[in-house]
Amino acid sequence: MIRVGSGHDSHRLVTGRPLILGGVRIEYAKGLAGHSDADAVLHAVTDALLGAAGLGDIGDAFPDTDPQWKDADSAMILLDSLVRIRDLGWRPVNLDITIFAQEPKLGPVKQAIRENVARLVELPADAVNVKAKTGERVGHIGRGEAIACHAVVLLEK
Ligand code: MG
Repeated sequence: MIRVGSGHDSHRLVTGRPLILGGVRIEYAKGLAGHSDADAVLHAVTDALLGAAGLGDIGDAFPDTDPQWKDADSAMILLDSLVRIRDLGWRPVNLDITIFAQEPKLGPVKQAIRENVARLVELPADAVNVKAKTGERVGHIGRGEAIACHAVVLLEK
């Protein structure tokens, strides 16, 4: 049996926060605002996993009113969701991730994000694809006000 899931997330870029995407710390003047570490990539991946398994969304599973997740490492949220889907007998087959950011240029860090996400979901790096797009200088992405991510995952059991 196979199931597909998709996830989307975006966070505002603000000064005074670290920029963490896919669990990788990226040198940049701004970072993403949010209750946890605001890692839009791991949040989109988590939502895709939960969606494929029919487990709702990241807000159901990890409420942002819960102090346990304040400034949380989103890898912990992802790993917790992996336990939930494995408990149902599902395992990830592959992930396709698209990150939308006008700045910084993500080309130099795409491979590091790929390898780190693959490590977290226990897949070979060639089963985790990372694409980076700009916002073509229009809209909230193109003006550099936010970074967004879309993720698609296939599960099997
Ligand atoms: Mg989020």
